[in-house]
Amino acid sequence: MIKVMSKNVIVTGGSRGIGEAIVKLLAESGYNVILNYNKSEDLANNIKDELKNEGYNIEIFKADVSKREDCKKLVEYSIKKFGEIDILINNAGISQVKLFTDLTDDDWNNMMQTNLNSVFYMSQEIAHHMIQRKKGSIINISSVWGIVGGACEVHYSASKSAINGLTKALAKELGPSNIRVNAIAPGIIDTDMNKGFTVEEMEELKEEIPLGKIGKPIDIAKCVKWLVEDEFTTGQVISPNGGWIII
Ligand code: NAP
Repeated sequence: MIKVMSKNVIVTGGSRGIGEAIVKLLAESGYNVILNYNKSEDLANNIKDELKNEGYNIEIFKADVSKREDCKKLVEYSIKKFGEIDILINNAGISQVKLFTDLTDDDWNNMMQTNLNSVFYMSQEIAHHMIQRKKGSIINISSVWGIVGGACEVHYSASKSAINGLTKALAKELGPSNIRVNAIAPGIIDTDMNKGFTVEEMEELKEEIPLGKIGKPIDIAKCVKWLVEDEFTTGQVISPNGGWIII
């Protein structure tokens, strides 16, 4: 039997890594979930089958969130499917390690389109709907590099820093409409995004972290779930990072 709960959520980039953990935790907690994916269609289908077999309510939708038109279609599909959307998790993102002096315009623009403009497009498309309903919650997945900056990831750091600024400003603008906007800025999390690091490099990183461990996608999913359920937090950038960055 489908376990139906009243709250409906869109998770962008839900096919792998942190997004997959968010999709699973929220679906298993009774939320109706739209999983957005772009390239990983098989993975998205597997997650859908697994969760549906367990009786949870999930649909998948292909959209490249770096494109306005795709974001529009994703939001339209989601509203049509579930009637209304309560929560948007802007999680989709890319990273690239490159010297600042080697960055091309394409590198820069691709990073901004995918990490930052996607948040603008998705949040704006859903804001019209949420303002009408006078309720909603938007959670943006940022990064510690958006707070302290990461060498050889200037464009990534800039995109995440801009997300933090967007989050704070939008929280002020949408607060009177009873819409909360927050960001989560994870430290290092064990996903494909970090598969470029050697085992030795990961060990070195671990030593820099007071809790002595690399985060897991579920650590971020639990923070998302807490923020989704909270009713008084808005405009905040929360950083689950094992104590790596303390500000
Ligand atoms: P990941 O394992 O590489 O997964 C990235 C996800 O984003 C995939 O589901 C991918 O979907 C999706 N995606 C990428 N471009 C997209 C696009 N144009 N349209 C739609 N979906 C797109 O990365 P992750 O580590 O889970 O990262 C998730 C978020 O956390 C990102 O915003 C990242 O910047 C942030 N973050 C990660 C870490 C970390 O250490 N891992 C730390 C701080 C912040 P497809 O495969 O279907 O294309």
